[in-house]
Amino acid sequence: MNRDWLEKDFYKILGVSENASLDEIKKNYKKLARENHPDLNPDNPEAEKRFKDISEASAVLTDQQKRQEYDQVRAMGPSAFGGQGGFNVDDLGDIFGNLGDIFGFGGAGRRKGQSYQTNLTISFVESASGLETKVPLRKEVVCTDCRGNGSENGTAYHTCNICGGSGQTASNQGFFSFAQPCQACRGQGNVIDKQCKTCKAQGIVIKNETVKVKIPAGVDNGTVIRLRGYGGPGDNNAPDGDLLVQIAVEPHKYFKRNGSDLILEAPLLFTEAALGATIKIPTLEKQISLKIPPGTPSGKTFKVKGEGITPQGRRSGDLYVKVYLNPPQNLSRSAKKHLESFRDQFESGDNPRDYLYE
Ligand SMILES: [Zn+2]
Ligand SMILES: [Zn+2]
Repeated sequence: MNRDWLEKDFYKILGVSENASLDEIKKNYKKLARENHPDLNPDNPEAEKRFKDISEASAVLTDQQKRQEYDQVRAMGPSAFGGQGGFNVDDLGDIFGNLGDIFGFGGAGRRKGQSYQTNLTISFVESASGLETKVPLRKEVVCTDCRGNGSENGTAYHTCNICGGSGQTASNQGFFSFAQPCQACRGQGNVIDKQCKTCKAQGIVIKNETVKVKIPAGVDNGTVIRLRGYGGPGDNNAPDGDLLVQIAVEPHKYFKRNGSDLILEAPLLFTEAALGATIKIPTLEKQISLKIPPGTPSGKTFKVKGEGITPQGRRSGDLYVKVYLNPPQNLSRSAKKHLESFRDQFESGDNPRDYLYE
């Protein structure tokens, strides 16, 4: 992840929409790269900068994994970097809403709902295979008893007689006339005679529900899954906010992960290391055989192709088995005798560390 991703709109740079296909992205990249290529634009620093930006944008958007990360970073904003930006998700909802106002889509007061965030902890094995589960959701919904206007049954109100229902009053200052929210009805246009008991005149109630969430195979710790429309209600028919599910993956007792590859450390008996053996090794789902050649040193790593993690839509990683020698801890008297005789017969005079003095 890259902090300046927040500032850079790669989609805009390449002139494509956020759901553009890979082919569209490649096509636009080729066209723009040709137009701005330094060879065709000598001594043109602007074209050179554009060429760099285009190349950077294409490198990210044509790599499925990078594109996904980029989308997530931009969806989360500064909080994708541990909240160092001083924003939380709710602030972001406001920021997006205000941008909507500035650019005029939707118009004033039509704001997308707040985004909610929730955390979900899954096991290492679940992260590898993917799963479908449910997350709890505390959602603000429009009160059905009053249909959101806050009065009993939605009918116990009258039109404000100060502003005539417009919610605004005009105040004249010299030549100009300014519209202000009406004080009497607080800009609502209506005055409530009797409050709705269900929502205490708020027009909104809290609903506890659960949402199904599909976790794709191969998700890594920190991945954020966006569920559109499961956030707070939007104003005036604006879309509802989103629910951002941040995934935490519990570490495995034995397996470690490096991208799509798995790493496993496994002990060898010293006879297995010396004489060679076919040993059994677990993968995340099954058991496999691994051939240890005679004379295998401690620390040697064996690659087992295709037994890593298979992220959805991508090729599978590999399993790396790192072996180490595990000498017997409690030798019986007879075993000790055998080893001593082995030493006296085959190792007397040998110093395996001789080369360290060269
Ligand atoms: Zn009024
Ligand atoms: Zn109500």
